Amino acid sequence: MMKYLLVLAVLVVAYLIWKRNRRLEAEQRDSQNAAKRSSQHAPATPDAMVTCRHCGLHLPQADAIQGSLGYYCGQEHRRLAEG
Ligand SMILES: [Zn+2]
Repeated sequence: MMKYLLVLAVLVVAYLIWKRNRRLEAEQRDSQNAAKRSSQHAPATPDAMVTCRHCGLHLPQADAIQGSLGYYCGQEHRRLAEG
């Protein structure tokens, strides 16, 4: 009889540990998702402006073409500057 009680106790402890780990994982996932959401909500540089290396035009980084030397206002200027 004592043997069954011991097995039952081990199972209960194992179940409690498993449940605790699952809760910790869920909390970690939640905090990671919250961090991702807040970074999407407030980007570090929302309106970063860059300068075309060929003609000096200022334009939003999102609209610029990135070359190996820097940003350009279009593929044509990237080709002219970098060959
Ligand atoms: Zn340009």
